[in-house]
Amino acid sequence: MSTIVQKFGGSSVANAERVFNVARRVTDTYKEGNSVVVVVSAQGDTTDDLIEKAKEINENPSKREMDMLLSTGEQISISLLAMAIEKLGFPVTSLTGWQLGMHTDASYGSARIKTVDTERLQKELDKKKIVIVAGFQGINKYDDITTLGRGGSDTTAVAIAAALKADLCQIYTDVDGVYTADPRKVEGAKKLDEISFDEMLELASQGAQVLHNRSVEMAKKYNVNLEVVSSFDRVPGTKVKEANKMEKMLVKGVAKDCDIARISLVAIPDTPGIAFQIFSTLASKKINVDIILQSIGRDGKKDISFTVPESELQTALEVIQPVADKLGAKEVLHREDIAKVSAVGAGMANNPGVAAKMFEALADAGINIHMISTSEIKISVLVNIKNADRAVQAIHDKFVG
Ligand code: ASP
Ligand code: MG
Repeated sequence: MSTIVQKFGGSSVANAERVFNVARRVTDTYKEGNSVVVVVSAQGDTTDDLIEKAKEINENPSKREMDMLLSTGEQISISLLAMAIEKLGFPVTSLTGWQLGMHTDASYGSARIKTVDTERLQKELDKKKIVIVAGFQGINKYDDITTLGRGGSDTTAVAIAAALKADLCQIYTDVDGVYTADPRKVEGAKKLDEISFDEMLELASQGAQVLHNRSVEMAKKYNVNLEVVSSFDRVPGTKVKEANKMEKMLVKGVAKDCDIARISLVAIPDTPGIAFQIFSTLASKKINVDIILQSIGRDGKKDISFTVPESELQTALEVIQPVADKLGAKEVLHREDIAKVSAVGAGMANNPGVAAKMFEALADAGINIHMISTSEIKISVLVNIKNADRAVQAIHDKFVG
């Protein structure tokens, strides 16, 4: 007998028929003699609809009240799924984040899980019940409801799997696994049988939206046996695991991220401490800086460019202007019509030719590169947003074929 955590996303529980589909999946697993904990997201577009509802009342509500509102989406799903399972004749109970004891830090809207109580969970499992848990929500030290950030239900599932030392954590979704690129957009995209935690982490943070990246971080940290599977088709999915013993494809995936913007500080002094002043200012406002490029100094001046999430562009510009003024920068430029395209693969770590091959693919496609950044297992380029899809396809064709 195994302990299995199954997570179903919003599209998998979007209507009554799909709720029953999930109920059958869950009860099939239960019938095999397993202890089953199920985590669900809000149905369909519920979370977006709730955000819209809030805006009709107040464009700038407090984050505490937003979490109070958004957490209701998942509460609807857990009760409906539990009712479907009751109807199929199986013992079941639903639990909210606070009933379970999903303790988070205090940051409303993007709370981090601190500890997961297993007492209540275990008690229900011992009674041979299927336990349905509300994803995406927790409780902080003030006994207030918090949410984990968009897509956070994956992280709820992995946290529970880690706390229970579950044998398997399955993330059911509307795609049947992790692909080498978005299969809806990229010709020839292939499903991967397996991918390493590090590769998945890079792909998740580079815009591949299969898994919430914090869920992968947590799975890696606690070595959770993770699997991405289709909620509609009963076919094998993709296993996410430790890299050892895995075949090392040069490039495992190609992803794009259009939610980025570039800021450039032009003609600032070429002296020590300048980069520190700029980036410590951004860090103090918790703005995530990604690719950084510094030009060669000329006449005692240099340029520094960097990218930030598009949603943080305005704040970044506001905090950087005074720094630019102080440094005597000629100007601060920014553009939003750019995208980051990344190729990820553990196999590239010891293969010097990968970057050249990627640039060749872009050159052949006539795509100009604005910035480049590399890490052990990832190469990212910045391109015009209108070229992003073609860039993904060209790179994918080159490496995956
Ligand atoms: N319902 C939340 C969202 O839409 C959490 C999730 O789906 O994982 O972001
Ligand atoms: Mg999701």
